[in-house]
Amino acid sequence: MPNGKVYLIGAGPGDPELLTLKAVHALASADVVLLDDLVNRDVLQFARPAVRIIEVGKRGGCRSTPQAFIERQMVHLARSGQIVARVKGGDPFVFGRGAEEVASLRAAGVEVEAINGITAGIGAPATLGIPLTHRDFTHGVTFVTGHTRDGTPLDWSALARSGTTLVIYMGMANLPAIVSALAEGGLARATPVAVIQNATLPTQRSVVSTLSHIVDAVTQAKLGSPAIVVIGAVAALANVEPSALVWPQVA
Ligand code: SAH
Repeated sequence: MPNGKVYLIGAGPGDPELLTLKAVHALASADVVLLDDLVNRDVLQFARPAVRIIEVGKRGGCRSTPQAFIERQMVHLARSGQIVARVKGGDPFVFGRGAEEVASLRAAGVEVEAINGITAGIGAPATLGIPLTHRDFTHGVTFVTGHTRDGTPLDWSALARSGTTLVIYMGMANLPAIVSALAEGGLARATPVAVIQNATLPTQRSVVSTLSHIVDAVTQAKLGSPAIVVIGAVAALANVEPSALVWPQVA
């Protein structure tokens, strides 16, 4: 039996319209689909009706399917001649462990092809019209995680001084600590901040505020994960209703 193949597919932030044509074609060719839990089930409309679906991953970590098990399963399926669509949220290579999966599949002699997705850090700000690198306001953009594997803090004061737009993934649990560290690192407390939850989905909600008020604004609006935090002057260009702006109250 000829060997199968694994497509490592980025599904984008949620809206299935944001899948690439390559992703749609790969899904349509798959015998089996492995779905991460941040992936919108609507992507299955592009798979064959008889496709086998394997759900992997439970948000929050403790009940997630162990990574090694997922990798072994993909190797087994591909070796038995199947076309495997491994679908991940956003882009597989942006905070997505895509590299680990590619390495273990290649080590097992399994053919693997990665297909880009729109990463949440790009897709979420775009829904509000936030231009991450508008040249009048910033010279770049930095994508960081707010939650490191071993708890090592990032160098927030270096990031505060970077002068780039900051886009933070997995930042909600540590938001108060991140905001304090950036302020202590010298980032102006009036710096605009946008938080966008469930971006591109019908459940999307967002707030736009400033560094000093964003934690209160997020609490008030009851925003939680998954969300993208955008910090920098460009966040003020968000095209939200004025009533959605949570700017500092003038006493
Ligand atoms: N590989 C993914 C990121 C996975 S890490 C990508 O490229 O987008 C998970 C984090 O991504 C979440 O904690 C959140 O910060 C962000 N995220 C994923 N989907 C999101 C969505 N629809 N809206 C807002 N943030 C999202």
